[in-house]
Amino acid sequence: MDLMEKLTILADSAKYDVACTSSGVDRGGAAGSIGSAVAPGCCHTFSADGRCVSLLKVLLTNVCAYDCAYCVNRRSNDLPRAAFTPRELAELTIQFYRRNYIEGLFLSSAVLVSPDHTTELMIKALELLRNEYHFRGYIHAKAIPGADPALIHRLGLLADRLSVNIELPSAASLGHLAPDKKKAAILAPMRQIARVRDENRQELTVYRAAPKFAPAGQSTQMIVGATPETDRQILKLTEGLYHKYQLKRVFYSAYIPVAQDSRLPALNTPPPLLREHRLYQADWLLRFYHFSADEILDDASPNFDPFLDPKCNWAIQHLDQFPVDVNRAEQAMLLRVPGIGPKSAGRIVRARRQGALGLEELRRIGVVLKRAQYFICCRGFSGAAGFGRRSIAAALVDSGVFAAGAQQLSLFAPEFAPMLSAGRPGLEAAKEEAVSWIEKRM
Ligand code: SF4
Repeated sequence: MDLMEKLTILADSAKYDVACTSSGVDRGGAAGSIGSAVAPGCCHTFSADGRCVSLLKVLLTNVCAYDCAYCVNRRSNDLPRAAFTPRELAELTIQFYRRNYIEGLFLSSAVLVSPDHTTELMIKALELLRNEYHFRGYIHAKAIPGADPALIHRLGLLADRLSVNIELPSAASLGHLAPDKKKAAILAPMRQIARVRDENRQELTVYRAAPKFAPAGQSTQMIVGATPETDRQILKLTEGLYHKYQLKRVFYSAYIPVAQDSRLPALNTPPPLLREHRLYQADWLLRFYHFSADEILDDASPNFDPFLDPKCNWAIQHLDQFPVDVNRAEQAMLLRVPGIGPKSAGRIVRARRQGALGLEELRRIGVVLKRAQYFICCRGFSGAAGFGRRSIAAALVDSGVFAAGAQQLSLFAPEFAPMLSAGRPGLEAAKEEAVSWIEKRM
């Protein structure tokens, strides 16, 4: 098999892995070396199905000893198999880099023979790149759960970012669909990476030339929609991962059916992209808006509202905390107002030192008044009094939801599918119905 055939197979096999964004590494070029990694890191592109893919995003091999039911590369699947040698992979990366096709490498792999054997091959490829070709570009490598901690350590000294995929949101689901994987084996390298990064940071303050361990941190990926966990369970897990292992990002991947299997959604089930989108929005609230998972979803409403983004949903559920006086409120409370983001909250706090702010100043600062007006008061504006919950909900319904289409909505609320299939009049009816739907959930 020639290199091009291998690349075709192994790049295609890697497309389901979405944990591929890069950030946080700033490393200039050096004499006698090639490549540089400048924050925000390597470039990306979007594949035809809308996923973010790095230009050289490959598996070392798709030959797998494991049989995870949700994975196209599972042992029992009949598909063309290939494996790069470390030298082939390093050569290919350098050739692509020299042609300006890529700025970095995202390297993952199936489990060839064993986690240790696979990790050793990955290390060899990265050692060739770093030490023989003097490649200083961005490298994101996948740590294989179950590999020896010493190997993970070596991998972390070669890569900018490591990721360990948690894959499924619970140990029960892992046991059901990926019997070769164990929750403890997945969490162990995450814990190790967090600890060593911590030690490394301290070491670097004393000795600046100390080798850096995974300087761009670690991330993980979770498949959504293959198993029955609620959004609340997924979000609670995400919150725990951020707190315990200082993850940079948790990526969510809407499950794309790849196998006819009674344990999985049917082959014609569309990937739950709307749910994936809501998870990313809620994830943003955890990381930048100081929300907790318990505030976003609770036992009574364990799944996202398909029609409202999670922040608007929270605000509508907590109308008693509004209107917020933008000239007096704490920054933390400003962040809870739909239409005010971290940047505009910071600008408000700085600008109000000079004098009381009115709607015009807020608009200039970047506040989205279309949403914020229902939740604030300011100089010359005493709040959008007289608006009930229903009319606020009607104004805040996420129209992108309807663009997502009948198929997506039918995953949340099957009764909407016929309305959306009926064209424009159906769309209006669906929006009206959506507001009643939101009201009923309150
Ligand atoms: S270990 Fe599981 S998820 Fe990873 S490539 Fe093999 S079958 Fe797929």
